[in-house]
Amino acid sequence: MGVGSIFDGPDVRAEFEKAGINTHFIPFIWKYVIKNPNCEWDDIPDLPSAAYSLLRSKFKTSTSSVDSVINSNDGVTTKLLVKLQNGAFVEAVIMRYDTRLGKYCGKPRPGGPRSTLCISSQVGCKMGCKFCATGSMGFKNNLSSGEIVEQLVHASCLSQIRNVVFMGMGEPLNNYSALVEAVRAMSGVPFQLSPKRITVSTVGIIHAINKLHKDLPGLNLAVSLHAPVQDVRCQIMPAARAFPLEKLMDALQVYQKNSMQKIFIEYIMLDGVNDEEQHAHQLGKLLETFDVVVNLIPFNPIGSLSQFRTSSEEKVLRFQKILRGVNNIRTTVRKQMGQDISGACGQLVVNLPDEKKPPNLGVTDIEDLVSRR
Ligand code: SAH
Ligand code: SF4
Repeated sequence: MGVGSIFDGPDVRAEFEKAGINTHFIPFIWKYVIKNPNCEWDDIPDLPSAAYSLLRSKFKTSTSSVDSVINSNDGVTTKLLVKLQNGAFVEAVIMRYDTRLGKYCGKPRPGGPRSTLCISSQVGCKMGCKFCATGSMGFKNNLSSGEIVEQLVHASCLSQIRNVVFMGMGEPLNNYSALVEAVRAMSGVPFQLSPKRITVSTVGIIHAINKLHKDLPGLNLAVSLHAPVQDVRCQIMPAARAFPLEKLMDALQVYQKNSMQKIFIEYIMLDGVNDEEQHAHQLGKLLETFDVVVNLIPFNPIGSLSQFRTSSEEKVLRFQKILRGVNNIRTTVRKQMGQDISGACGQLVVNLPDEKKPPNLGVTDIEDLVSRR
């Protein structure tokens, strides 16, 4: 085994305990590393001497590195291409869009912009959704909790991160224990992101949803529903066969009863597949008994995957109108900021560093998703 990440909470705690070192030093070490990303272990003051030798032999201040940083022309988004210890790449995207800027008469918000960070949980994904670039890569490997947290550490060097969304590469609930540990680390000292500001987006892994509230109370849950009936869902998301819609909705019902929190429903609009009026009515009925916000996502056509077409704006607005008007469901539409997308949150597929296209993200609602309650 290689040298581990200092941000792999359970491993670090286990090694400290084994060596008889107080684990209270861990958040202090994390804080130092975040502030001094290029430090050596010996630079950290006031640790017990046994801690220095342990750190030197077993852990690295960072197992991943930022391979490249690409800023969008408007400065709103920054894409980080992160190289993992095994040589694989994942992407993390910082979004600085501030939906409430208007309230401050166009002046910057006091306290600076509130950035949202979109992070990856796996290299590739085994769920194989037919509209998703990451799905087309297949599954390569899980990230460790340290590798997940390190994306936040890297991004924090560039921007003050207020929200984290697991909408990058991978299905977070298929990497459950690393996800849980990473969220715990992010919500503890020194990051102290409130769990309410951390959103996990899932295709609907029922057995994981069943334990999520107990393991991570307060967390925000977003569910990629994408269809209101089982057969349409199966057509576009093979995972729907293993996690049938009816059982998923039952699990969400229990989740909501326990968590007493809104659930975010993601719905990708695919022309002629799931975007007809009847689908809106079916979706409204399906969500009738829930407290939800529906986020309609215009499909971004990606490379050869485009057996699907983007729904017209009229269709999207009609869909939204039905959910709002008939079912009184808060429904937002993800803004489309361009079509030549290569690194959008939720469809990250790594482009090698010579790719100089700026990331082109429909970000407004992601900030919205996590900040406007
Ligand atoms: N695996 C998780 C989280 C990552 S995907 C999930 O599926 O929820 C994050 C979001 O981006 C999902 O809602 C996903 O359906 C959406 N997405 C994937 N491919 C897309 C595409 N081509 N256009 C628009 N949204 C896409
Ligand atoms: Fe995996 Fe999510 Fe893409 Fe589906 S949409 S293949 S679950 S990353």
